Amino acid sequence: QPQWTLLVQGLDLHVPAAAEMLRRAVALRADLQAAVLRIQDMASRDVLTGLYNRRHALDMLDHLGKARERLPSPCTLVLVDLDHFKLVNDSFGHGVGDEVLKHFATQAQEILRGSELIARWGGEEFLLILPNTAVDGALVALERLRIAVQTRPIVAAKTSLTINFSSGLADLKLGEPADCAIQRADVALYQSKATGRGRDTVHP
Ligand code: GH3
Ligand code: MG
Ligand code: MG
Repeated sequence: QPQWTLLVQGLDLHVPAAAEMLRRAVALRADLQAAVLRIQDMASRDVLTGLYNRRHALDMLDHLGKARERLPSPCTLVLVDLDHFKLVNDSFGHGVGDEVLKHFATQAQEILRGSELIARWGGEEFLLILPNTAVDGALVALERLRIAVQTRPIVAAKTSLTINFSSGLADLKLGEPADCAIQRADVALYQSKATGRGRDTVHP
């Protein structure tokens, strides 16, 4: 009987301590999960524009490729490159150049909002992934974006300017590796640049 009391008293002492430890462990786990999510998000984004980065775009293309094996659907890839962007830096400074990139990113997200994915591919170049969209639909979206960037001036450091862009489109064929389609979009983009800029070219 005295032994019982001791045991129960011991448990009485330890149950609250164990509960506290458990509570802390659960809280720590939640903190860790939140930190991992934050780090994952940071690793998938471009610091300047907040758009997804090239790595994330490639991951998404990988997922999309697998999904399209199960359920075939059209998909258009577009490489967009700002026209004469070096001139913006040279004329108004790198800071204004950065503002222009951010502004373009915001406009593109606003205008292409939907299931599209926009990534900063590098420098002043962007990759649009348009699932469930054939090239005709992609051209309509690009024209909407072009009208927006040409009619809404960007105001930065007492400068007001409008920009334009060239693009190259490629229809991502079923089973085609994404890097091949991106390469084709790049060829089409080069064509847009070579034939006067401010236009969209579809890779045949
Ligand atoms: P094109 O119409 O042929 O594309 O001409 P462009 O001047 O846009 O192309 P070019 O490749 O000659 O120059 C791109 C410039 O973009 C040069 C580079 O310094 C600038 N750039 C790249 N990344 C950044 C950035 O993060 N911020 C700023 N401000 N400039 C950048
Ligand atoms: Mg470029
Ligand atoms: Mg350029």
